[in-house]
Formats: sequence, structure tokens, C-alpha cells
Amino acid sequence: MEHMEGLCVTGCERCPELVDSRSRIVNGVGPDDADLLFLGEAPGAKEDEGGEPFVGRSGSVLDDALREAGLARADVRITNCVRCRPPDNRDPTSDELSNCRSYLARELELVAPELIVTLGKVPSQHLLDRGVAITNESGSVVDARVGDASYRVLLSVHPAATLYDRSQREGFFETITRAADLSGLADSADGQASLGDF
Ligand code: URA
Repeated sequence: MEHMEGLCVTGCERCPELVDSRSRIVNGVGPDDADLLFLGEAPGAKEDEGGEPFVGRSGSVLDDALREAGLARADVRITNCVRCRPPDNRDPTSDELSNCRSYLARELELVAPELIVTLGKVPSQHLLDRGVAITNESGSVVDARVGDASYRVLLSVHPAATLYDRSQREGFFETITRAADLSGLADSADGQASLGDF
């Protein structure tokens, strides 16, 4: 854990190939006590450039789904299993996932979210430690142990899946609305909407 200060990892060199491919380490963003935390796979080109998770096309889909659920990006925490961009957008290797796992465990322990939403197959498999057929299992709620704690996890397809296959969009949006409900954030979103009526 020597490279972590609070929620931020700095100067980590555990994965030599990623040290070469990254421009920067992309840490999680959002409230340090968020009730709802989204977990992606690893930064892509836009995230590597901007230093923030989910700021590319997948991020726009996530932002749209959050808005439809009555939430804003600033209400939730967004992070990745691996914090450095893999070369050529390949999936992170199992070594890279395990090198970064203690940082994720620490982030989850500090934020202590009510609900984690795994965005796609890689983060779902990483938390559940088993194979996941994400299109079939999307929408399932399970418990997962990370570090010394157990978390409630809602499985979801990756927002990019909706860009390859429009028919997945509705299901993805429904899952994010369910996440707002299960994390208790939907109540505060409703409260704000009704205040706005006056
Ligand atoms: N896809 C991910 O899994 N994470 C990001 O940060 C961006 C795209």
C-alpha cells in the first residue's frame, strides 16, 4: 500500500507494461463517502488523457443513464479495477488486476458504499472471482468480499455494450435506475425533484 495516500495512488510501478503505456495514474472520482460506486475495468485513451474514469463515449452513456435515474455524476463515485491504461485497449491481465487489487480494496474500505455496480464482465469477474456471462447476469445482486469486507454488488453490462448493440440500452438504463433505488440515492433525487416543483 506504499503508493496510496488516502484514496489516491501515486507513483506505483507494479506493472512494468502499464508504466510504459500510461500517461498518468487514473484514480477514482466522486464523494469519498458515496453510497453508490461504479466500478469499471481500466482507463481508455480519453481517461488516460483526462485523468478521470469514464470521460469518453462510455462515460457519456453512463452520464445519460445517471441523469435518467435522477442522479448526477457528482453524486456517485466512479473508479476502475486497474488504474493505468493497458496498451492498445487490451483487457488488463490477471497479474495487473491482482497488482491493483489492494488499492481497490482500500478505496472500497474508505468509501464504504451501500452498493457497487460492476460495469462489464471484467470487474464483475474480478469481484466475484468466477466466470460471469454478463449479458445474462446483468441485473443480479450478489455479495462479494474484497479485502476484509463484504459488499452488495449489482452486476451490469459495460456502457460501451449499448454503443455496439442498441438493444442493450434500455436494460442498461433500467439497471442504473435500480442502482439508484438500491443505494438509497433515489429518495434524495426524488426529494430534489419535488423541491424544484415549488
Ligand atoms: N471503460 C472502463 O472500463 N473504464 C473507464 O474508465 C473507461 C472506459
